[in-house]
Amino acid sequence: MNTPAGWYERRDYPRGVLRLREPAVHPYFQSNIWFVPGRDCDLLVDSGMGLVPLTPELPLTDGKPLIAVATHVHVDHVGALHEFTLRAGPAVEAAHFRSMDDAATFAEEFRALDAPVSTPPYAGWDAKAYAIPPAPLSRLLNEGDLLDLGDCTFRVLHLPGHSPGCLGLIDTADGTFFSGDAIYDDELLDDLPGSDRAAYRATMTRLLTLDVSIVHGGHGESFGQARLREIAQAYLDATAP
Ligand SMILES: [Zn+2]
Repeated sequence: MNTPAGWYERRDYPRGVLRLREPAVHPYFQSNIWFVPGRDCDLLVDSGMGLVPLTPELPLTDGKPLIAVATHVHVDHVGALHEFTLRAGPAVEAAHFRSMDDAATFAEEFRALDAPVSTPPYAGWDAKAYAIPPAPLSRLLNEGDLLDLGDCTFRVLHLPGHSPGCLGLIDTADGTFFSGDAIYDDELLDDLPGSDRAAYRATMTRLLTLDVSIVHGGHGESFGQARLREIAQAYLDATAP
């Protein structure tokens, strides 16, 4: 299948971090895909909608493994996960990575949109036929687990609320934090099936004291420590019982 050049928008960040996005996807389902190079192993954080193969877009090195992490099982974060051999994600959502059932991924909400994409990924593309290939996890992640890239290590934070398993990854040596959908600089969603506002409040309380240098979220633009605290505090204020 011929896919349009430029389906993915690319942007470079410090320490070799690369962000990919799919600008033609409906804004509700437009998410960030993060590539992080390591000495012995590269890291992918989330994989977009999977409408166009993702692997060819990544600066992979022959013989160097890539570990693909899914921060949670929502459709806009797991579409291309099946392309990768090493797949890690939240232990508490593991069953859904085997089934990719609509009830957990919300793929049906994407199919049902009037205009799911502004430009089709290829001629003849049919939103109604969209399906996420199952991508069983090869590694189950829990709070405190470590992902060792050789020259840096990311610690897994379990940050439930948006979904039961939501994960963040932080390099505590330099404060680079991949936050998934736990926190980002845009409208936060805490009313989906599977969301839990009390758990989300506990996550935000925890994030208030997390030391970071930069936050790369599941959606929107990256931000720093002060904005992290502002967003977390605003959520706590808005949802105060
Ligand atoms: Zn989500």
